[in-house]
Amino acid sequence: MLNGFKIDNRYNQLPEHFYTHLQPTPLQEPKLVCFNDELAASMGLDPAQKQDWVAVGAGQQLFEGMDPLAMKYTGHQFGVYNPDLGDGRGLLMWETTGPDGRRWDWHLKGAGTTPYSRFGDGRAVLRSTLREYLCSEAMHHLGIPTTRALFMVSAKDPVMRESIETAATLMRVAQSHIRFGHFEYTAYHQGPEDTRVLLDHTIRLHFPELEALPEPERYRRWLEEVVTRTARLVAQWQAVGFCHGVMNSDNMSIIGDTFDYGPYAFLDDFDAGFICNHTDQGGRYAYNRQPQIGFINCQYLAQSLVHVMEADELRKALRCYETTYNSTFESLMKGKLGLETEDEGDMSLIMDLFSLMHEQRVDYTRFFRGLSTRHSRGDAPVRDLFVDRSLADDWLARYEARLQQETAAGSQREKAMCAVNPKYILRNYLAQEAIQDAQTGHYETAHRLLEVLKRPFDEQPENEAYAALPPDWGKHLEISCSS
Ligand code: AMP
Ligand code: MG
Repeated sequence: MLNGFKIDNRYNQLPEHFYTHLQPTPLQEPKLVCFNDELAASMGLDPAQKQDWVAVGAGQQLFEGMDPLAMKYTGHQFGVYNPDLGDGRGLLMWETTGPDGRRWDWHLKGAGTTPYSRFGDGRAVLRSTLREYLCSEAMHHLGIPTTRALFMVSAKDPVMRESIETAATLMRVAQSHIRFGHFEYTAYHQGPEDTRVLLDHTIRLHFPELEALPEPERYRRWLEEVVTRTARLVAQWQAVGFCHGVMNSDNMSIIGDTFDYGPYAFLDDFDAGFICNHTDQGGRYAYNRQPQIGFINCQYLAQSLVHVMEADELRKALRCYETTYNSTFESLMKGKLGLETEDEGDMSLIMDLFSLMHEQRVDYTRFFRGLSTRHSRGDAPVRDLFVDRSLADDWLARYEARLQQETAAGSQREKAMCAVNPKYILRNYLAQEAIQDAQTGHYETAHRLLEVLKRPFDEQPENEAYAALPPDWGKHLEISCSS
């Protein structure tokens, strides 16, 4: 079973204070909830042998070569520095390199307490684990960088949250599990030498193309790259209508993946100030604040490098954020509108559209999909999303006038727009239905949903219901942030 890939454990080559070696705490009577056949095959695993992974998922068994450890990190949570963080319920198991040469960190989330658990029980519940599984796969198929879900198991063990819930674990895989918070830890608790060690480790494993550069340039180029990836990622979130919910610096991936799925949401009715995390009363992580928060997190990262890089270099690297964010967002939004030519009025056309969608609480995903298929289906699917249709007509008239400058044929534009405006997204209520069924031991709802989300841009006539507006009960669901 383990022949398809090469095994390594390079994180444990770092100085010992970076982690604690630890075994998972076993769970009882595990069942496989989901297994990602395609991802497994690409990593060199045989999907036919998926049941062999259940005991690993439950922390009952380790395969030879696994050397689990909990990583130490810190971070800013809601703007306040917390020195007491780390893998409180997850363990880095090993790293593998598959037949395609890609390396993967395996991280078992929900594996029991660690020295960094504070008051937590080290566990994850079925509800939040399935939410992470579903969303990370949805994001991947939308083309947005993310950690992936390899498999998840549920177990008999009760876990106390607001009520008693079912324990579960997720084998999360990613090119890297290093967070901005890892650098904050070395900077504030260890010192510049260890920050350099972590930097060089990160560059060696995840940014090998920079390794040969001489030092000041190597670090500056690296920070520019991290800042650029972060800005690009947040622009992708904004364009697809994704709200992360807990953009603490310990939830920011150093390679620019969407990382640590909590009370996230895809927007249904467009509300610029939408807050998906109901404990975030001030709306720090509201949808329209994400771009700024992404930058603040990059500042935290830069701040942790002040003893290994010149202040000017740090500032220079940070400047990449705004330019990258603006250009990525503009190009993504223009793509969503099917605009290939340049016009100086494009940004105001886009921003006016956002104001209008906000005012009219227009369903974000259906609007852009409806706009995409206007050539073949006409205006009705778009107009019908507005309470005041005359406002839709006014904007559509402006848009139509702008389209006159385009050279592509309508049918060609329709195809291009359908390739960037998803028909299927992970609406909160769909996740909720999958969770309710999973909690009674029925996993087919989740499996079917995962199949739909694998092809978000395709018309799937048999799955039309998944693209419908949410039912009344499914709007504004309060997602518990306990997980
Ligand atoms: P999160 O809000 O999930 O990003 O987690 C913030 C911090 O709390 C991290 O250091 C986690 O490892 C830790 N944590 C979250 N939930 C638990 C839990 N049930 N038991 C132990 N630690 C936890
Ligand atoms: Mg976290």
